Amino acid sequence: MLRIKGLKKSFNNDIVLDEIDFELRSGEITAVMGPSGCGKSTFIRSINRLVEPDDGEIFFRDIPVHQLTQDKLEGVRQNIGFVFQHFNLIKRLDVKQNVALGLIKKGYSVAEACEKAVLALADVGLAEMGDASVLNLSGGEKQRVGIARALVLEPELILFDEPTASLDPILVREVLDVLEDIVVRKRTSMIIVTHEVTFARRVADQVYFMDKGKFVESGKPTTVFENPGSWIGKKYKKIIN
Ligand code: ADP
Ligand code: MG
Repeated sequence: MLRIKGLKKSFNNDIVLDEIDFELRSGEITAVMGPSGCGKSTFIRSINRLVEPDDGEIFFRDIPVHQLTQDKLEGVRQNIGFVFQHFNLIKRLDVKQNVALGLIKKGYSVAEACEKAVLALADVGLAEMGDASVLNLSGGEKQRVGIARALVLEPELILFDEPTASLDPILVREVLDVLEDIVVRKRTSMIIVTHEVTFARRVADQVYFMDKGKFVESGKPTTVFENPGSWIGKKYKKIIN
């Protein structure tokens, strides 16, 4: 579904993505893990070109995302959802409107979009919250709205950039439970940047460890967490045990 070759990105003179290769098969859940500042956000944001790569190829199905002009890029972004660490909800809109907005932009009537938004909110356990102001939500609820906003467009792939990193520890669980439930029920392909090692081990089909702009190890969770070859894998193994 996704094939990335030689992806490069520098900021100023710092190499942040150092010729990265990456593959994702349809229906797979991949966790990307690694220390702060190693390039995880830059990587995941490059996939739908929220960050412009300097070099490299990104094929989503047969589409050369790296070559698309801005107008064509919008079409691909409809099909690749993104869930942000800091939610990025629109404060003046209520919960249902936040979720419906992407559909309205896509040409749905407001009534249809709101109907679908309520269904997507039900998928994240917020069916009753459609009319609430986003200002009154807990962090966990805000992120579940962020997930519903991605789901409502029925994308083939959803990218998550540390979806639980801005949450209080007691709210992390509810978001991870929603994510796991979506994985089990929908099998939407996902790339999840996360530090939640127990979650990654249980839910991911593939895990990639990143260090200093490179993937230093990848494989099935059972292999990379239990028999790691990289220093990062060895650290995570200690956390699990
Ligand atoms: P991670 O998500 O793994 O914490 P990032 O991809 O956010 O890492 O950042 C990797 C490196 O790139 C960091 O050193 C960061 O300071 C730098 N960086 C990220 N975005 C920018 C930017 N827009 N301008 C300049 N430097 C950036
Ligand atoms: Mg980051």
